Amino acid sequence: MNEVYNFSAGPSCLPKAVLEKAQKDLLDYNASGMSVMEMSHRSSIYDEIHNQAAQDLKDLLGVSEDFDLLFLQGGGSSQFSMVPLNLLNPGEKAAYVVTGSWAKKAFKEAARFNPVELLASSEDTGFDHIPEINPSSCPDAKFTYVCTNNTIYGSRIVPQKLDPIETPLVADMSSNILSEVYDMTKFDLVYAGAQKNLGPAGVTLVLIKKGLKLAQREDLPTMLNYQTHLEKNSLYNTPPCFNIYICGLVAQWLKDQGGVPAMEERNKEKAKLLYEAIDNSQVFKNKIRPQDRSLMNVTFVTGDKDLDAKFIAGAKKKGLENLKGHRSTGGIRASIYNAMPLEGVKALVDYMKEFELENR
Ligand SMILES: *Cc1c(COP(=O)(O)O)cnc(C)c1O
Repeated sequence: MNEVYNFSAGPSCLPKAVLEKAQKDLLDYNASGMSVMEMSHRSSIYDEIHNQAAQDLKDLLGVSEDFDLLFLQGGGSSQFSMVPLNLLNPGEKAAYVVTGSWAKKAFKEAARFNPVELLASSEDTGFDHIPEINPSSCPDAKFTYVCTNNTIYGSRIVPQKLDPIETPLVADMSSNILSEVYDMTKFDLVYAGAQKNLGPAGVTLVLIKKGLKLAQREDLPTMLNYQTHLEKNSLYNTPPCFNIYICGLVAQWLKDQGGVPAMEERNKEKAKLLYEAIDNSQVFKNKIRPQDRSLMNVTFVTGDKDLDAKFIAGAKKKGLENLKGHRSTGGIRASIYNAMPLEGVKALVDYMKEFELENR
């Protein structure tokens, strides 16, 4: 088999141990004679997979008592509309912090349904930092919306930065959930598409604080109503069973690794190694303000498009895959989610040094 390190932003690499377990179970899950792909979602054997995955994820996040967890479909992008439609009655206002492309999309989508205020934005400087958030500037907002990690630009909102926010807090954590310790009780609603740091594409995690007041929109489609899924434990209709099963394996793997605090330590070590290599280089540059840098998506450029392309092509030859930056920004992006081992980052740094010697 061709061994590579996969730096894709999403769908992204999964822990090898998870893939091996899935392979072992593929034709015959737990002596059932069936694959999880073939099972009824109403069977007791699937029920156990479903509930265990949800419980393990809640345990890892430390929210077993306070939050309900949903497995939904439609990707992170469906939450851009589900959030305002479920949290705002017609005419009610929300405040958005726009720190990258995904937050901007969420802001625009919410504006289709309700009045929305731009609480803070870093768009005028190309999303190169996290702006100051002054929550008192929008006192009538029903919630404040943030995206904790900007997958495309490579910045993140560090946990302390959320402290002053007192209105109900909604977060898109698609690309950094379970990567470092956030005080989850700070949030009222959190969602994350699985394909960055949780599992395969096709399932989205939604965490809703118990007792959170949901809006009452008469015309809300049944499938877009959180209440529908809350009442049925995410089994109102057929859930993406196999994807949920893989997320459950990832959760188990995370527990075996020591949970979120252990992942945070490893992720900080990986990110430090890579940012130091960039900062000490004559060829590569990272444009994000240092204190706002992402631990998950590390972006850099040479300043020359052709040289970027040469770097990416050379990396591929060494088994360092998917380093191309997002199509909207260009450049180079190394996504180093939980499943990326330290060895992968070391291999990338070695190649960067080699490339620098040859292209200075
Ligand atoms: C990838 C991503 C999304 C969009 O997810 P889809 O599942 O493709 O809809 C939204 N927000 C963030 C932060 C992302 O990284």
